[in-house]
Amino acid sequence: MRIAFIGLGNMGGPMAANLVAAGHEVRGFDLMASNLEAAAKRGVGVESSISAAVSGADAVVTMLPAGRHVREVYCGDDGVIAAAGKGTLLIDSSTIDVGSARTVHEAAQAAGMKMLDAPVSGGVAGAEAGTLTFMVGGSDEAFELGKPLFEIMGRNVVHAGGAGNGQVAKVCNNMILGISMLAVSEAFTLGQTLGLDPDKLFAISSKSSGSCWAMLNHLPVPGIVETSAANRDFKPGFAAAMMLKDLRLSQQAASEAGVATPLGAEAAALFSMFVNAGNGELDYSAIIKMISGEK
Ligand code: NAD
Repeated sequence: MRIAFIGLGNMGGPMAANLVAAGHEVRGFDLMASNLEAAAKRGVGVESSISAAVSGADAVVTMLPAGRHVREVYCGDDGVIAAAGKGTLLIDSSTIDVGSARTVHEAAQAAGMKMLDAPVSGGVAGAEAGTLTFMVGGSDEAFELGKPLFEIMGRNVVHAGGAGNGQVAKVCNNMILGISMLAVSEAFTLGQTLGLDPDKLFAISSKSSGSCWAMLNHLPVPGIVETSAANRDFKPGFAAAMMLKDLRLSQQAASEAGVATPLGAEAAALFSMFVNAGNGELDYSAIIKMISGEK
């Protein structure tokens, strides 16, 4: 296939490289010359505009920072929808607000194009290794067309339903993760303060009703769980600033939908304090430092 790839940053760069490695012709565009150069070294054809990259493409993949970038890249005068031929498959893998995702879907559909929102989890390591999880929203027909590409860039691919549902899945999942990391941090801080060895609390809780994914995989206490960022001075992993972005997106979605999510709101407020204090580059599990009064 001929694939246009817009947004060749930390995630998009390796994702595009995996499409090249699988034998596709990939033409890329990014506003940053250094990212374009890095992509060129990995076999991506460099283009000087969105329209040049998209013209004649069978599929377009975008990996951009936020909703406003996605709206501009798709719906702008020289954007993807203006430049792509009818029948082109459009895939946005950025993590963005549900409203923007649904707006762009509508514009694509009105122009006769099939669109999927397909945010990912798995981080830069997953993008490099081609082991991302894709949460996909869009029609059955579009999903079947996109699946072979997702299977190159990722390992788990879930069709979450219609337009925007990929983004809904992403923000709901990460709201659970943010809240559960705070719960684990509070419980381990309380236990330790009361004289309970974290090893013992883990041995009990990880096999009891308090167990959760955050505890089993990202325990914020060093020396117990091998995959924890706590073992490497909270080097991310999943940066606190990224967790804050996703918690804000879930709050935006909750507010637009009129759904009360008080724990999600509290998690967003706590991660906001932590990030504003200069900790955005630490792993999100480092929030335990704020809970325990260390930061
Ligand atoms: P990044 O900032 O490294 O890359 C984004 C790229 O988009 C940049 O190179 C930027 O120049 C480019 N860009 C912005 N506007 C553009 C435009 N108008 N035209 C062309 N290029 C444009 O960000 P990233 O870490 O690659 O993240 C991308 C998306 O993936 C975000 O939505 C993020 O939330 C999501 N995500 C990131 C991670 C992660 O671990 N980094 C994990 C999961 C999801």
